[in-house]
Amino acid sequence: MSLLIRNAQILTLDAQDREWPEADILIADGRILAIGPGLCPATQPARVIEARGMLAMPGLINAHFHSPGNFLRGMVDGLPLEVFMLYEVPPLAAGVPVKRLNYVRTLLGAVEMLRHGVTSVMDDAFHVPVASAEGIDGIAEAWADSGMRARLAIDQPNVVEYEKFPFLADLLPPEVKAGMAAAPRQSTAELLGLYDHLVSRWDGAAGGRIGAALSCSAPQRVTVDYIQALSVLAARHDLPFNCHILETKLQRVLGEERYGRSLVRQVHDLGVLDERMVVIHAIWIDAEDIALLAASGATVAHNPVCNLRLGSGVMPFRGLRDAGVPICIGTDEAVADDAINPWAALKMAGLVHTLADPDYRSWPTAPEVLRCMMQGGARALRWPDIGRLEPGARADIALLDLDTPPFTPLNDLRRQLVFCEPSSAVRMTIVDGRVVFEDGRVTTVDEAALRAEARELTAGYRAAFAPAIAEARRLEPYYRTMVLRAHARDVGLRRRLDA
Ligand SMILES: [Zn+2]
Repeated sequence: MSLLIRNAQILTLDAQDREWPEADILIADGRILAIGPGLCPATQPARVIEARGMLAMPGLINAHFHSPGNFLRGMVDGLPLEVFMLYEVPPLAAGVPVKRLNYVRTLLGAVEMLRHGVTSVMDDAFHVPVASAEGIDGIAEAWADSGMRARLAIDQPNVVEYEKFPFLADLLPPEVKAGMAAAPRQSTAELLGLYDHLVSRWDGAAGGRIGAALSCSAPQRVTVDYIQALSVLAARHDLPFNCHILETKLQRVLGEERYGRSLVRQVHDLGVLDERMVVIHAIWIDAEDIALLAASGATVAHNPVCNLRLGSGVMPFRGLRDAGVPICIGTDEAVADDAINPWAALKMAGLVHTLADPDYRSWPTAPEVLRCMMQGGARALRWPDIGRLEPGARADIALLDLDTPPFTPLNDLRRQLVFCEPSSAVRMTIVDGRVVFEDGRVTTVDEAALRAEARELTAGYRAAFAPAIAEARRLEPYYRTMVLRAHARDVGLRRRLDA
């Protein structure tokens, strides 16, 4: 399938940051063949898209996302991560049939992102209470059918709930601890078997549009043999390895209590911190952590809306950038950045760091955060051919109407992309050379039927989870005590307004 986009204003975001006031983009077999004014293809393209008055730019890359949160938007008010997770992944939840649920739930988020001009995503998908091949297939099939480019990981902790936190084992009554110890957990061998399934069935599927990724969730949530086995697997297949590290102050305290060191130092000492690792959040890091991250070549995934929603704190953006650490941007999940809108994450990345330093020369600029999303995102996903428009790159393109409020009047394209929240101006989304969103509708999915089925499934899902949620409410006071105790400690870092 060949495609010719004619007369668009083009923002390439390539290494030279080239722009074209008006030019054409020729696409064939999922890749960009040529960019320039007045292109005359040797053979007539299958479709010509007249794009005068439109901006063509690379599709957005959502580098950190959990599709299982898609049914949970707006479910809770702001809560600290550890309390929030009680409701998001209730520790005593029973299983529900997952194949269709996972499929519909994932597709719902895909549709929303395609409407925003998002073309690639890293889905760090968790499973409650345990992962299964059919649950993984439900998610992967949805990404494949959506037309989006996606990498999928299995984010499955395998230690007892109260071992993931400081103080909790001492706070909980014995009968609750016994219930947690008896909750289902998967062995390293079992989880590696599921990774075999994911990699062999899905890595490179849909013409290379679907890929596998690794995830340990977080170092304190898994056994040492499992995190090390995942790292070996990531190296063997050269895949991204997702790891949430130092998202909260409590996790800083946990590192001190459990390991006598920071969790960044911990993954470094375990031999798993390398250039394939995507270190998610990295808020409560110190100077030594930043040096370790820089030396490793890891990419940090910044989720500023989620971080504010959960009161986690502000990531040291400039410290990481000055040390040369690549940063990508994500929305995290729909219960912690409820709109699944990377434009909002981009804007928040451009805003929140003004709180960190009175010297405004250190504040992120619009071109800088755009580059984080594109180049950082491509690096995190280990797909070097996305995030820029140039010959040879994948044809993942968003077309935005410049005759719209966010761009009127047009003063500075990059600043208006970052600060004017232009998702309402997205007119077309192209992934791998295929038009997947145009004329206000996603072409790969019956959206109304999808939403209807999502509503129907949610009712059953809520009912199935009601006992676990009731149990979570009962547990909340213990978690609250734990969180407040951790926050009372001086860890020598300032990442929130209060500490
Ligand atoms: Zn996350």
